[in-house]
Amino acid sequence: MDHPFDCLVIGAGMAGAICARELAERGRKKVLVLERRNHVGGNAYDCFDQTGVLIHQYGPHIFHTNDKRVFDFLSRFTHWRSYEHQVVANIPSQEGRLELPVPFNLISMEVVFGKEKAASLAKRLIAAYGREKKVTILELRQNPDPDIADLARYVYEHVFVHYTMKQWGQRPEEIDPNTTARVPVFLSEDSRYFQDVYQGMPQEGYTPMFEKLLDHPDITLELGTDAEKRLTLEEARVLLDGRPFHGTVIYTGAADELFSCKYGRLPYRTLDFRFETHPADFWQSHGTVNYTVDQDYTRITEFKYLTGQELPGVTTIMKEYSRAYTGAEGEVPYYAIINEENNALYGRYKAEADRFPQLHLLGRLAEYKYYNMDAIAARALALCDDLLK
Ligand SMILES: Cc1cc2nc3c(=O)[nH]c(=O)nc-3n(C[C@H](O)[C@H](O)[C@H](O)COP(=O)(O)OP(=O)(O)OC[C@H]3O[C@@H](n4cnc5c(N)ncnc54)[C@H](O)[C@@H]3O)c2cc1C
Repeated sequence: MDHPFDCLVIGAGMAGAICARELAERGRKKVLVLERRNHVGGNAYDCFDQTGVLIHQYGPHIFHTNDKRVFDFLSRFTHWRSYEHQVVANIPSQEGRLELPVPFNLISMEVVFGKEKAASLAKRLIAAYGREKKVTILELRQNPDPDIADLARYVYEHVFVHYTMKQWGQRPEEIDPNTTARVPVFLSEDSRYFQDVYQGMPQEGYTPMFEKLLDHPDITLELGTDAEKRLTLEEARVLLDGRPFHGTVIYTGAADELFSCKYGRLPYRTLDFRFETHPADFWQSHGTVNYTVDQDYTRITEFKYLTGQELPGVTTIMKEYSRAYTGAEGEVPYYAIINEENNALYGRYKAEADRFPQLHLLGRLAEYKYYNMDAIAARALALCDDLLK
């Protein structure tokens, strides 16, 4: 008996949900979506906690893009709440704890050095590089003015190095000098974390947006279903439930897992999230506060800033702890550790996948890369353009 589906999509995150919608709506295909978790949305999933606060289960997600096609496409499935994210670094100092905007900018400079010194520094920086410019600390270090070189050292030490060590579990000498060189100082008073044209949060949350994306008569969604149990890749054949499947397969899970990790696991960093609920309207000063010098956690996010939820007297925060991913049950691979060796290992899995012309690897796990949501959305739309040519 033939399968009743033209296409199989594995994963109901941003990559999978957009492909499923496009193939069903634009391509008039019958699409089966298998999702291992018991919810849609992938890592952008949000839900209400026990106290009624809307939280992001897998880390804070803020939507931002310069891509009009992506924004227009997603806007069919959600209204947006206008929101511009701001992040501060919380650091100890002799006068108590300071909070300075990151990326480090002219306002951060005032907080650290005081109005007078900051004004004099700003004048020299703007004369050298121009206003509203992002200048790397490498460029600043090469400036003959000793105060400017000192500024680069301050930003490296207080904003970058300890935070990066926590995030990636590295010693300073292990941190890629190219990454260090790219750390920016923003010669601006603009303290927004992103400068994209479109920025916001889905009005009702991400999960309803994903539910609408997947709500189409030609999409069948099976939650709590691991594709590993349904899909077999055998020589050059794809089997679904033990029978040959000839349609398009879009796989958005981890590339190594698709081949039972036969060449070894692809290394990732994972995160432990600790949620705390407090009896207050707000608990901290901004949506996200980075701890760039001390503490074991990297950052704390307070969701009510992001979601705009009006709920007096109660708020939920989340502390993020980064560590190596081991592949243990329930652990989520969050950040691919991109280096030559790991890319080569990924290449072996990609070569395996390329033996199956109907199989497409898409998404942050399947492609072993970090992508923001809008980048994944753009890639999903582009893949469907190709498939539906
Ligand atoms: C902590 C954190 C914060 C982030 N914040 C932002 C942000 O603020 N803004 C932004 O734009 N981006 C952010 N991102 C990036 C964003 O999460 C990704 O761009 C997005 O999740 C990519 O979607 P995806 O579909 O590729 O992957 P995912 O969201 O991971 O979806 C993949 C889905 O496939 C399922 N799956 C995997 N294997 C199988 C299988 N064998 N069978 C069935 N289902 C399977 C998974 O359960 C999952 O639901 C953040 C990422 C992290 C880690």
